[in-house]
Amino acid sequence: MIVNMSASATKEQISHVVERIQECGYQAHLIQGAERTVIGAVGSNGRRAEIEALRAAPGVQDVIQIAHPFKLVSRQLQQRRTIVDVGGVQIGAGNVTVMAGPCSVESGEQLMETALAVKAAGANLLRGGAYKPRTSPYDFQGLGVEALRLLREASEETGLPIVTEVMSETDVEIVAEYADMMQVGARNMQNFSLLRKLAILERPILLKRGPSATIKEWLLAAEYLLAGGNKNVVLCERGIKTFETATRNTLDLAAIALVKELSHLPVIADPSHGTGIRTLVSPMSKAAIAAGADGLMIEVHPCPERALSDGPQSLDLPGFAELMKELGTAPVREVKAA
Ligand code: PEP
Ligand code: MN
Repeated sequence: MIVNMSASATKEQISHVVERIQECGYQAHLIQGAERTVIGAVGSNGRRAEIEALRAAPGVQDVIQIAHPFKLVSRQLQQRRTIVDVGGVQIGAGNVTVMAGPCSVESGEQLMETALAVKAAGANLLRGGAYKPRTSPYDFQGLGVEALRLLREASEETGLPIVTEVMSETDVEIVAEYADMMQVGARNMQNFSLLRKLAILERPILLKRGPSATIKEWLLAAEYLLAGGNKNVVLCERGIKTFETATRNTLDLAAIALVKELSHLPVIADPSHGTGIRTLVSPMSKAAIAAGADGLMIEVHPCPERALSDGPQSLDLPGFAELMKELGTAPVREVKAA
């Protein structure tokens, strides 16, 4: 439930409502807007009737029921859009944030070449997989800690913060030592014990949508992170399984637009995994931005035909620079008169 305080509510009146919410067995989440304060009463075992009765408390304007099962991620609770800061890059602040890099970190040379190129083309964050969730146990599984070290080196060289996947609860500490943003991969979206562990970190989380997850399930997965105390969550639409087999996944553009209505969290799109086809990455990037995406995650490899994972969907370095130029986010360079 949401308790809307009136614009003239005093600090004491707000504190009184917070105390009553806690006494009634709920968690109280205070959201201070520019004009008024809203307090969320969240939990499953509270005494609801007593919260409804708070309508009569001084300073309270209204008490309303949150219509959705997800509460803290809901725009009903927080109208103001969340901005997530990742190493100085503000995601959700109005610009399109671009996270780019290889599917997997394969070597120091491969990563550094890619990092320098995506930085020059205007990317804001460097991505690269160290722990890879592969369908087959015989496929390349990632370089693990060695890849984390290489990512950090590339970050120091380019100034780009890094985002990388944490696949297992047991890797949370080591990944957190190196990563500016921790990615929860599509296959782990409902790994609730992993989500609970990440919730107690302050580190920003990129939460990918599960290939078979509904929007409600995706937002409830995000709710785990916020309920556990981590508000720095960015959602990523990366395509879902449908009957269509011509593309690797079906990038759900309507989900981007709908999630922007339902939630205050930033949403980015991953047209690389969303299509699996290099030539579709550029048109679907533009389509995702038109649908309201706050950013993009793009796989880039210096030589996609040699990539150890996801070569067919990876852009090469000139291809990525071209995309960035088309998106209009390439850095403006000084053009010297001849
Ligand atoms: C990835 O980003 O490399 C990845 C494995 O993505 P997803 O979890 O969306 O398949
Ligand atoms: Mn990949």
